[in-house]
Amino acid sequence: MSDTRRKFIAGNWKMNCSRSEAIQLASAVVASSEEKESAQILICVPNIHLADIGKLAVNSHVLLGAQDAYWQDSGAFTGEISISMLADYQVKYLLVGHSERREMFANTDEIVAKKFAGALKHGIKPILCIGESLAQREQGVTFDVLKEQCQAVIDEVGIEAFADACIAYEPIWAIGTGRTATPEQAQEVHHSLRVWLAEKNAQIAKNLQILYGGSMNAANASELLAQPDIDGGLIGGASLKAEDFLKIYSVA
Ligand code: PGA
Repeated sequence: MSDTRRKFIAGNWKMNCSRSEAIQLASAVVASSEEKESAQILICVPNIHLADIGKLAVNSHVLLGAQDAYWQDSGAFTGEISISMLADYQVKYLLVGHSERREMFANTDEIVAKKFAGALKHGIKPILCIGESLAQREQGVTFDVLKEQCQAVIDEVGIEAFADACIAYEPIWAIGTGRTATPEQAQEVHHSLRVWLAEKNAQIAKNLQILYGGSMNAANASELLAQPDIDGGLIGGASLKAEDFLKIYSVA
């Protein structure tokens, strides 16, 4: 384990939970976990639940995050919520570039970079999600894809901006499929990424939390988190049950 980086256990609820379910789940996460030195805990909830959950989490160790927002501060963008609006609701982190946003909602590298910049502008830490498809892995272009996704953000904000951000490596073929990357596969990618980033800024790369996401659960978390360059997890399915999610936090 790195002596400079804390583990970071982040739940991504995606589009799940009614209002009462959301309050119940967040309450259980807050009540049944404790602050600890070795790890941080975050829940990224649907935007409509931010007000309720912000009140629950405000004086606790559980950090509140959002899953997406639009980068312009205001204007004629029917149906959107701006990052500046999130800042009013105790939101500390924002997922940007999740593969579901990239694939289903046309979030290009350029849009992702603007959201990353927008989050920083409003004092919210972006978690840049990157990942390759199964076809890209089989073609042997995994690392090229990841570099391109990171480079678009670096071009927009500069490498120094990653002092206030995280990266989540989420191979698309592992998301929601039950097919986790092996600890060795994930470690290899995380390590290569850190080496590549260190060429740009060694200190930033050393301190950067790089999370793994894709079917992480209570059974496989400790092996993944034991890898030297895996600094946490972005957890979808297993974050929807407080017990499962907190088991992962307990081994971090
Ligand atoms: P999963 O989702 O844990 O359900 O695979 C992870 C994610 O998409 O962030």
